[in-house]
Amino acid sequence: MAILFSDDTYRSAAIFQELQDNMPDIDFRKYPDIGNPDDIEYAIIWRPQKGSLQHLPNLKLIFTISAGVDGIIYDDTLPDVPIIRNTDPVLTTGITEYVIYNVLRYHRHFHIFDRQQQQKIWKQLPQIKPQHRVVGFMGLGAMARSGAQHLTALGFQVRGWSRTAKVIDGVTTFHGKDQLHNFLSTTQILVNLLPLTDETRGILKATLFAQLPKGAFVINAGRGPHLVEADLIAALDNGHLAAASLDVFDTEPLPEAHPFWVHPNITVTPHSAALTDRTATAHAILAQIARFEQGEIPSPLVERKRQY
Ligand code: NAP
Repeated sequence: MAILFSDDTYRSAAIFQELQDNMPDIDFRKYPDIGNPDDIEYAIIWRPQKGSLQHLPNLKLIFTISAGVDGIIYDDTLPDVPIIRNTDPVLTTGITEYVIYNVLRYHRHFHIFDRQQQQKIWKQLPQIKPQHRVVGFMGLGAMARSGAQHLTALGFQVRGWSRTAKVIDGVTTFHGKDQLHNFLSTTQILVNLLPLTDETRGILKATLFAQLPKGAFVINAGRGPHLVEADLIAALDNGHLAAASLDVFDTEPLPEAHPFWVHPNITVTPHSAALTDRTATAHAILAQIARFEQGEIPSPLVERKRQY
């Protein structure tokens, strides 16, 4: 049995090395050096080169090392075997910390205090009760739920919007396009944790921002192409939005000349809300393979038709 690693990004060599270090007893190969294709039974991928998993007659499962699968789902050469995505608890913890940090930063005006300090301004600002602050999550999946529940415990009014109806303790839920406006109309801090699909691409745009109350904040930890970048800058510059925290971008790494780097009301992080723990991921994949070989169905499975 051999496992093939396929990724076509700037991080590919480092990821392969770390996974390999964690799988010392496994015949682990890196595309395009696949050796005899008949040996390959499993694949681990992040953003594979198109066609790299074709012609592997004994391939049984594909594992992604990311939670999002937008980097693979559009590859129509992907063989028809189950795809299991990464929902390691380390990812969930990272996203939860990122969301709570950013919500508190805006809720308690730390973005303004940072600026006041630079100008040596001593000025207190009103302390708003969390009960009077509405935080809205777009997407209520594995990555969003823990943050939503922690913020509920802190006393915030938490709302969530998903594709299908959900019941979550303490969270007011909305679903589908018809309920999007109601969800947005009172959301003061918007957190995007949607997967990138045909339906969600470009969803963070001018007409959506216009439905948020004036002075709202946007936190995007989903994917860069969810956001229409020029519309965000326009909504910040005309004062409708107050500030934004962005972890993901159309082009990553974010180009040096990009206006987001220097915008006074944008906080940039380098796709770091949650980093894959490669040791945990390698062990989880090996455990899934062992259980699969004993007849267990692996999870969570990607549903290709819905693109997530
Ligand atoms: P997930 O468990 O599949 O949940 C996705 C959520 O989005 C579900 O609640 C789903 O609704 C909802 N959704 C999907 N399409 C929708 C639509 N058209 N309209 C409304 N709601 C829709 O995914 P996850 O594990 O939470 O991950 C979400 C995303 O977070 C990933 O795809 C990735 O892009 C991003 N992420 C980013 C980082 C980072 O470091 N920045 C790290 C990890 C993940 P249903 O519940 O009805 O299916």
